[in-house]
Amino acid sequence: MRQYGDSTVYLIGAGPGDPDLITVRGREALAACDAVVYDNLVPGELVVSLPESVERYYAGKQAGRHVMPQEEINRLLVKLAREGRNVARLKGGDPLLFGRGGEEARFLRDNGVRYEIIPGITAGIGGLAYAGIPCTDRTRASHVTFVTGHKAGDRDDPEMPWDCFAAAQSGTLVVYMGVSEATDIVESLLSGGMPPHTPAAVVERATVPTQRVFTTRLGRLPEVMLRNNVRPPALLCIGDVVELQPLIEWYGGRPLFGKRIMVTRPADQAQDVYRTLRRLGAEVLPYPTIATREITERDVWANIDVISAEKQWLVFTSENGVRYFINQFTNEMGDLRRLGRFKIAAVGAGTARALKRSSLVPDFVPDKATVADLAKQMKAKLDIQDAVVVRVQGNLSDETVPDVLSSAGAKVIRLTVYETYNPEWPPGFKERLLANPPDVIMFSSGSTVYGFGRRLSEDEIQMVTRHARIVSIGPMTSKHIREHGMKVALEAQQHSIPAMVDEIVSYLGQETYEGL
Ligand code: SAH
Repeated sequence: MRQYGDSTVYLIGAGPGDPDLITVRGREALAACDAVVYDNLVPGELVVSLPESVERYYAGKQAGRHVMPQEEINRLLVKLAREGRNVARLKGGDPLLFGRGGEEARFLRDNGVRYEIIPGITAGIGGLAYAGIPCTDRTRASHVTFVTGHKAGDRDDPEMPWDCFAAAQSGTLVVYMGVSEATDIVESLLSGGMPPHTPAAVVERATVPTQRVFTTRLGRLPEVMLRNNVRPPALLCIGDVVELQPLIEWYGGRPLFGKRIMVTRPADQAQDVYRTLRRLGAEVLPYPTIATREITERDVWANIDVISAEKQWLVFTSENGVRYFINQFTNEMGDLRRLGRFKIAAVGAGTARALKRSSLVPDFVPDKATVADLAKQMKAKLDIQDAVVVRVQGNLSDETVPDVLSSAGAKVIRLTVYETYNPEWPPGFKERLLANPPDVIMFSSGSTVYGFGRRLSEDEIQMVTRHARIVSIGPMTSKHIREHGMKVALEAQQHSIPAMVDEIVSYLGQETYEGL
């Protein structure tokens, strides 16, 4: 059935929270989509890391209370597909398990829209694995039951056979959406004959580093949940397998476990730091406050092409500069062999890495990693009188290189290959941030600080920074942070992202965590 061109809606399970728990097929489909419709529980990174051109629709809680009604979601999916888009319908866990994916699929079928269902790791499997609870066990549980604890209040909903669950004691009972109903659920199981000393656990925010696991006995479960203020999303797990938890538990204990770290760098350049922080046990809050996009200055490129000076330099001062330059080069100049006419000057570890990716090695690197040193040392150490210097830059680059090198007699051509802008956060993301503010905020440039100020009001900045330690990449960035009325807790000695991460680990890593 192909009534609407080749558009497909992909019903994708995003997994329970850890962004790496989406399937390979899910990632592929996400990477190929033109629009994404996502729920409350999907990992933010999966949405933030999509290219700017992907339209984002939030189907979770809207501005406070209301959830987008299912009919509206269904209609949105059909509309987007009819308009020719490939749509990623991204849902927490598995799309068909307490996820209404079946209803969406039926609606799509009725409306002649093609779809594909990409299963995900459901919270009851993935979440329990991260909690150290096996769903089944050869001697303790020979079956597992997934139930919803939510009373839909709908008369058509089937009655829950709690008595049967209570009687089926040789297995594991996993209750989704059971936080607010926990007391009633436990009551029903007890009155159905399940012994109050049956091992029971609650797993909150499973697979996310702020995960908490409490193990107890069925009779005491509501009290334990109340005392620890357990909030959704959480799973109740009831059965003898819970006894294995202390023996199997593995997640946690890493240096940054449980810390919530807000990363403000552009998402397309933050994948490494997201991964590193996650490996160190932190929960990453991906909130890019700047982003870049390509600009092609055809007239400037044309100018470069006709130059036949002897001495020619390309000056790179950022990873972005290299990346966008290389992208444009083949379009504007032919293949990379034509670069042979240029010598290359570069500053910064990221810049060097980006050059290396294109198999380029700079001819000149200053011994101190600042743009000012690059310009000064080029002037002092190289013969650049009458040289042509192509300063590869973004729209916000400062004038140091042109000023210093022009004063030394070089002809400087400014070639702007990208511009920086302040991206909107995907719908629903700001609310998430305000509800769960970070412990640490990383600023890796003055423009990330500026962008932060653009995304949040004064009051919101107060809320977000209230308990946060602010980490700066260096003195210039720190100055911007202070100008925005915030305090700098840590400043990296080496001005790089890995150095910032090291600072965070040595500063926060020693604090005892209140994890499991
Ligand atoms: N389709 C999803 C379930 C959606 S219903 C899946 O397959 O996992 C939402 C419920 O799932 C929550 O109320 C909670 O009980 C459970 N859940 C989802 N993510 C969770 C997480 N990270 N930790 C604990 N429970 C989670």
